[in-house]
Amino acid sequence: NLPKSTVTSTTTSANPGLIDYQKSDFPFSDQIVQNLKKIFHLNTFRLCQEGVINAAMDRRDIVCVMPTGGGKSLTYQLPAVMGNGLTVVISPLLALIWDQVRALKEIGIECVMMTGATSTSEQNEIYERMKAGATRYQKEIRLCYVTPEKVSKSKRLISTLEKVNEAGRLNEAHCCSQLGHDFRPDYKKLSMLKTLFPRVPIQAVTATLSSKTLPDLLKILRLGPITDGSSAKTTGTVFFSAPLFRPNLHYKVLSKPSNAKSAIAAMGDWIQKNHQDQSGIIYCLSKKDAETVAEELREWSGGNIKTGIYHAGVEDYEKERIHVRWREGKVNCICATIAFGLGIDKGDVRYMSKSLEGYYQETGRAGRDGQDSDCVLFYRGQDAARLSSLTYGDVDGSSKLQEMLRFAQDLKTCRKVAFAKYFSASAHLSASAWDAPDALSSSTGTTSTCGICDNCMRSPESIITKDVTVESWKIMKIAQFVQSEGGRVTLANLSDLVRGLGGGLFGVVGGGEGKKGKRRLNGEKERVDLEALGGKITLSKDDTEALLIHLVLLGYLADSYHATAYSVNVYIIASDTAVRLTRLKLQDVEAGRSVKIECTFPVPEPKRTKAKKGKRASDSDEEDEEEDEDHGSVDNDGDT
Ligand code: ADP
Repeated sequence: NLPKSTVTSTTTSANPGLIDYQKSDFPFSDQIVQNLKKIFHLNTFRLCQEGVINAAMDRRDIVCVMPTGGGKSLTYQLPAVMGNGLTVVISPLLALIWDQVRALKEIGIECVMMTGATSTSEQNEIYERMKAGATRYQKEIRLCYVTPEKVSKSKRLISTLEKVNEAGRLNEAHCCSQLGHDFRPDYKKLSMLKTLFPRVPIQAVTATLSSKTLPDLLKILRLGPITDGSSAKTTGTVFFSAPLFRPNLHYKVLSKPSNAKSAIAAMGDWIQKNHQDQSGIIYCLSKKDAETVAEELREWSGGNIKTGIYHAGVEDYEKERIHVRWREGKVNCICATIAFGLGIDKGDVRYMSKSLEGYYQETGRAGRDGQDSDCVLFYRGQDAARLSSLTYGDVDGSSKLQEMLRFAQDLKTCRKVAFAKYFSASAHLSASAWDAPDALSSSTGTTSTCGICDNCMRSPESIITKDVTVESWKIMKIAQFVQSEGGRVTLANLSDLVRGLGGGLFGVVGGGEGKKGKRRLNGEKERVDLEALGGKITLSKDDTEALLIHLVLLGYLADSYHATAYSVNVYIIASDTAVRLTRLKLQDVEAGRSVKIECTFPVPEPKRTKAKKGKRASDSDEEDEEEDEDHGSVDNDGDT
């Protein structure tokens, strides 16, 4: 079933018999350029657009990895309007569907969409039009946008497509995977496309692809083995990738105050200082967060920051209204969950994500016009607990979260290099895919630094790497003690305990027997004898939290999940690896007779004298010591 090339004239001179799809001398090349100008009003191709369009015109199966905002849609829209026939675009994101259908209609292209919200009478009309093709009265539908759910659930859609195919008018199926790894069950059913329509080419476009994803993607869509777009074999799936790093995106991680009010003020401050009246998106962890942040930010700014809310729980008509208000500039700061789709042409703020893929996707929505934009992650160690409970139950959720935390905690590695390392785990997406479009064939495996992210711009004096072996030993000892007593601690509890706060108390789980043979009640408090365990540690609250996460990432500490009917609580436990260190005596550890653990911390900025009035968020961290609100448990109210 591998679609074969029908182009025989254009082969690469260096590799006879192979096709270089990046060239511009195909029989259809002139027509492509004419349509680019006439229909899409664009002058030149970007990145690997031309190569993908050439391969699509050659009716090949294609996998195309291009950054968000890179211009993936043109690679299927342009071939769709050339010649005759219907192209089906399958996208999980309603926002993308709306936006593209609106934009295509504006330039006079016949296109329709079928989603859960399409009425039966509209659907009837669409099916009839699909079957009829071009008639005296109506133009042919060129693109039909559907969700994966629609394809997997609607027998009528499939039988209509079969009829269109029998009439020789089914051109291509395009699958836009936004979160490459989020293969939901409906996505898996897309395998039926190749079975039902073996001769219809499939083009899969995505912005995120890593080692695990490519084979999955090929398997799910039943695509043949990969062949490189610049020297493609005449059979197989043609693979294209464009540099994934966008030099106009400035990545930075900022420390988020632990208290919710101060966090809002910190964000508001940052927005007003850096992007007054500009557009931005704040991605939040849950629907509830998106609503709270929107409201509090509006209040904090006295209405200067015009916020809007966008998540899966917002009704469709309301979503459309927000889109319009956003485009008109009546709303300039959208507080959203990942449900806020693509097709958004600008954005300059962000918040926190559960995986690097997600983070890359979300930030990709910034600066689509090519202008400089900021992608800011407001992070503190405590967020890890919330994220952990949100990823509970996701396949690979915790390993992906660890990568995200590693990124957030990293004060040294260039953000671009960090992305490259993560995504280049794929054999087909080399590290240099972040730099060069022809990375596949000329991979050197290295990535140059971006020079514009926080870590590239950071002065060496602003961070300090400390030997924290002794502190780590104490932390692990305390965690082990709590466990041995049948207790449970969240990250925030543990951070307090090790610093000698909170009276040294921790809660125990009911049922078991304590040391003195006494039966335990649920929630009963026990006390840590800090002196017996080596004494407290003297790091600041922020540094302690950072160290705890560092120890989780090193595998000395681990998350332990406890699901209740309404929430998932995440506790911190000492892992088996901790024993390697804690079986040593404190004196031995102090004398350096153990593995060495190092951690890099930011050097605190010199303290400003406290202003009497109008306290600024950034000053408030010290005062927040006892004000923690988030102790690692969240309502699982859905995160999209
Ligand atoms: P993606 O789907 O990769 O996230 P889009 O296809 O939505 O990105 O394109 C992002 C933006 O880039 C859109 O505003 C689009 O009009 C613009 N664009 C796409 N291709 C070109 C091009 N060749 N020249 C100029 N602008 C382009």
